[in-house]
This record gives sequence, C-alpha cells and structure tokens, in this order.
Amino acid sequence: MLYDLLLKGGEIIDPGWPCHQKADLAISKGEIAALAPDIPAADAARVIDVSGKIVCPGLIDLHAHTFINAHDMGPETDRRCSSSGVTTLVDAGSSGSATFPGLRQYVADRSQVRLRCFVHLSALGLIHLQVGELMHLAYADPEGCARTIRENRDLAIGVKLRFSNNVVPDSAGTEPLRLARQAADMADVPVMVHITDALLPVPQILEFLKPGDIVTHCLHRYQYGIMGPEKKEILREVWDAQKAGIIFDCAHGRMHFTFPFVRMALDAGFMPDTIATDLSLPSATRGPVFDLPTTMSKLLNLGMGLEDVILRVTANPARAIGEAGRLGTLKPGAIADVAVFSLERGQFDFVDTDQNHMTGEQKLVTQLTLKDGRVWYRAPREQS
Ligand SMILES: [Zn+2]
Repeated sequence: MLYDLLLKGGEIIDPGWPCHQKADLAISKGEIAALAPDIPAADAARVIDVSGKIVCPGLIDLHAHTFINAHDMGPETDRRCSSSGVTTLVDAGSSGSATFPGLRQYVADRSQVRLRCFVHLSALGLIHLQVGELMHLAYADPEGCARTIRENRDLAIGVKLRFSNNVVPDSAGTEPLRLARQAADMADVPVMVHITDALLPVPQILEFLKPGDIVTHCLHRYQYGIMGPEKKEILREVWDAQKAGIIFDCAHGRMHFTFPFVRMALDAGFMPDTIATDLSLPSATRGPVFDLPTTMSKLLNLGMGLEDVILRVTANPARAIGEAGRLGTLKPGAIADVAVFSLERGQFDFVDTDQNHMTGEQKLVTQLTLKDGRVWYRAPREQS
C-alpha cells in the first residue's frame, strides 16, 4: 500500500505555502506524502472523507500554560489540545529554573502533544500569581534560566518575562528587560515579553528586543499599548519593529483581548503575526478563551480573513519556534500534523475579556486532528 491514510475531498488551506485548493492529502510513515486533486482511494490503507471541511496544518498555540501553580492544565493538556486541532503547544513561562524539572516530569513526559517551553526569567515561574514572580527582583535568574534552556533543548526554546505592574516592582526600571535579554543571549534563544499593563511605553521595551523576539498580548487595551493614547493609529516604532521581524502575538488570556480594542487595531491596518490563547485551565473551562479555534473564530468575525487567521496559527508560529518547513505546513515531507475544521454558519455568541458580547456568524469547529500521521481526535459523529 502506497499510503497509510488518505484525507479525501477537503479544502486545503495552507497559507504559508501558499496553497488553497480542493485536494486530497496522503500520509505515509508520519509524514505528508502527497497532495493532489485526486489520489485513488485504493492507494491508501485507510480513507477518511473530509469533503466540505477545511484541512490545514496542525495548529501551533504559541502562548499557553500547562503548569501554573505547578498543576493547571497538567494532565488535561492532551485532551484540550487534541480536541481543538492543536498539535504543538508552547508553554509561555509557567516554569523557571527552579521549577522546570516539574514541568518536564508531570506534563512533558506524560503528554503526547508536541510541547515547547519558554523558561521564565524568574526562577519561580508562575507558581503563585497573587504575588508577582519578580516583585522580589532577587528571583530573577538569568544564569539559571540560560542553563535550564541549554540543558533542555528538546523542550526549551526561549526566555519569558512579564513586564507588568504588580509583577515587577515600580522601582525596577528597565532592569528586568536587561536581565531577560542577557538570559536569552546567553542561551542564544528569543525572548517573549508580556506587555499588558507594562511599566514603560512599548517603544522603550522594543529597544531591548531583536528580530525573532516576541511581544505577547499585543492587543491589550491598557496603558502603554501598540497604539498611541488617542487610540487612532499604531505607533511608528511598532510598525518598524514588526517590519524588522519582531513578532507581535495576540495571546487572549483573561485580560488581553477586548473586542473594541481589537477592532481599533484592525481598523488601523494592524494584524498580529501570531494568534494564541494564553490558555490555562480556568479560562479553558469557564472561558472566555475556551480554545484556539474560539480565538480564531473571534478574529474571523471581527473581520480578519480565513487565510490570514490560519497563517497565524500555522506557518507563522512554526517560524517563531524555529520549525519552519517541518511544522505548520502540509508540504510533502513535513510532519503529518493536520487539523480539520468545519466552518459553521449561524448566530454564535462570543465573549471578550471585559465581558463584552458579540454575535458572530462564523465558527470553526474541530472535526479531526492528526498528530504524526495518526488520528488523535475525531469529533462525535453527530457533529461531523
Ligand atoms: Zn501567559
């Protein structure tokens, strides 16, 4: 038999390639083997009919959490990922140098999802959010952070800093940014900076960043965002940084995604480079995040195009984590991580982080997830 699995009749949307056409997708030995308008069913050991569905690369959630308070999504990580088309999950600094072994032991070693991690500059990571992890700046551990990354290159891909009020002390100035930069340079990896409720204006933060670094929560509505105080236009420094290759990620979370601000940014012509959830167990179970397809659906209903949205959860985050060409693409030879969605039409209620409601007419619903070429999730029959 030529192929292990054949997805037949779907609408392939792989904007990183770019590829958008009705085609069949054949998989063999965990890799994408062929993509063509009509691949004979007889050539495959198993055929799944995906006609009327969208077939795209397995999603990469660039900012989520598996280990806040040393538990969080933990053992539920696989169930949450597989049922939402997410085949690669990036933990954005739940752990630091002192707590990273726990994340490996209790989450990474027990999960099937392809996990990557940013290691927090604070040795504590996000162990107790009620007290900011760097309020006592002595917990900043650039050497330990860099060492942890170097010793765990199968998982660790960057340095995380939350540069927020109540996370770092008012008196800290730019010191946390300097230390995060130092850790990232020592380990030769990017840094991800959380900018919601930041201590300093974004242009001053950008001075510490290089191409490939990530500004996360770029669509928050608080002081010191990507727009000027009038909220009419995007700051020139933000345009320059995005053009230079600094990645603007719009991780949703519990306080970083409000419909009015997202609309203003989109109206000003800005699009984030990556779309992520900032998922943690409470926001997954009670909302308003729920999962990555829900965040994608919100942006669709706010006016972004389907290809623009899919690009920002596939090829763009793949590049951000250094896996371009291997993940986030359906090109033959790539790892066969695949997500299949239906685009439902109707009246759907969406909620943002300020409890604003929006009725949207489109909603992406996960139908099938393949990881390494194997069926990892299939929606209950009545939905498919
Ligand atoms: Zn986060």
